[in-house]
Amino acid sequence: MPLSIDLKDSALRAELSAKAQSCVPDNKINLIGLDRDELKSVLIEAGIPEKQARMRASQLWQWIYWYGHQDFSAMSNIAKPLRGLLEEKFSLTRPELIEEQSSEDGTRKWLFRFPPRGAGKPVEVETVYIPESDRGTLCISSQVGCTLTCTFCHTGTQKLVRNLTAEEILMQLIVARDRLGDFPDKDVEGKGFVPEGDRKVTNIVMMGMGEPLYNFENVKKALLIASDNEGLSLSKRRITLSTSGVVPGIELTGSEIGCMLAISLHATNDELRDEIVPINKKYPIKTLLDACRNYPGVSNAKRITFEYVMLKGVNDSLHDAKQLVQLLKGIPAKINLIPFNPWPGSDYECSDWDQIEKFADFVNANGYASPIRKPRGRDILAACGQLKSESERLRKKERDALNAMHAMVSGHGAESDT
Ligand code: SAH
Ligand code: SF4
Repeated sequence: MPLSIDLKDSALRAELSAKAQSCVPDNKINLIGLDRDELKSVLIEAGIPEKQARMRASQLWQWIYWYGHQDFSAMSNIAKPLRGLLEEKFSLTRPELIEEQSSEDGTRKWLFRFPPRGAGKPVEVETVYIPESDRGTLCISSQVGCTLTCTFCHTGTQKLVRNLTAEEILMQLIVARDRLGDFPDKDVEGKGFVPEGDRKVTNIVMMGMGEPLYNFENVKKALLIASDNEGLSLSKRRITLSTSGVVPGIELTGSEIGCMLAISLHATNDELRDEIVPINKKYPIKTLLDACRNYPGVSNAKRITFEYVMLKGVNDSLHDAKQLVQLLKGIPAKINLIPFNPWPGSDYECSDWDQIEKFADFVNANGYASPIRKPRGRDILAACGQLKSESERLRKKERDALNAMHAMVSGHGAESDT
């Protein structure tokens, strides 16, 4: 039985909500998600002398991202009056955590609630943590829902509600670290402090809900903060962005983010890929693979991962394996075979294990590493492609009515639509 802590009923939820609520009405600026320049600017606006602002921004950066502090009063190298000013103007409040589930295999899944920001009502997002013997991977969402409709993917059945902001993308990593006791000054289960180099979240993958390249600027901002050496300090080699094949974003990912790239290929001919990964109609296989060949920084030491979901009787024949090897010729690549994870209402079956192994052996024998991804967290619907939240975007008319009501009640202008 999966262990589910429904935070609706727990003391923890009360604690988290109390914190969240206490900071809602005061309109403080949340510092999480601001880059260094923005941080400096808001400090100057708050009255910190320009000469000091860079140094103060650096100090804050370390407290916020390296130590994961939520409390200005504990920032010991900042003078007391200044801490008071920070407290008054800014917050480091975490989002509302609605539910936390733990799988039999140690996988953890969190459901977050973020403010509407133009979607009409608050949105909910899932994040998954997968511990393994040599690493801990956090699977982060970039959008609520998805505009694309890959036929085997649960998220694809949820219309796009809205893009996540950089703050919301980062919060998934920060709260995961909070919950796992993974900031260096946190006491882990009574064992003292987490030693450096012994982190629980060692890798992040943009493989949760949504298509990250349709939310490029926010994803880029969040990943650059996540990889900053004086903060969350994840190496860019341990950050992987997965795309269904939004070709114009691929070059930008390499040149502006510099992280590892994964491509959701899933088919070896355009006819089938058009059907199961419909963005293929816009950017067909050849165009996609050309972009991969030109991916900035690609080399044998920095290979592109090609994800290939194993769908019984659809794309799992040895003929497909042969085609796959042909297609990838000349691209430094590894192939990640993903056993299809079923979800309520899905039309596919996972390939037989025997067939997956034959497929993997063939690809391997032809020179490509082809690990089979072990399904994790299936019992809590946390495996690849199983994520989906209940959030729906309100219709324009409904949003306008709601905003007009808020404006009347609060005396402020209506929230602008995005
Ligand atoms: N939108 C991006 C990232 C999120 S999906 C993308 O498509 O790449 C992360 C991975 O899970 C993708 O490779 C996706 O194709 C795969 N996936 C989706 N549904 C799945 C399912 N039901 N079983 C196994 N893998 C799935
Ligand atoms: Fe969207 Fe990726 Fe799912 Fe396709 S596989 S519907 S792009 S989240």
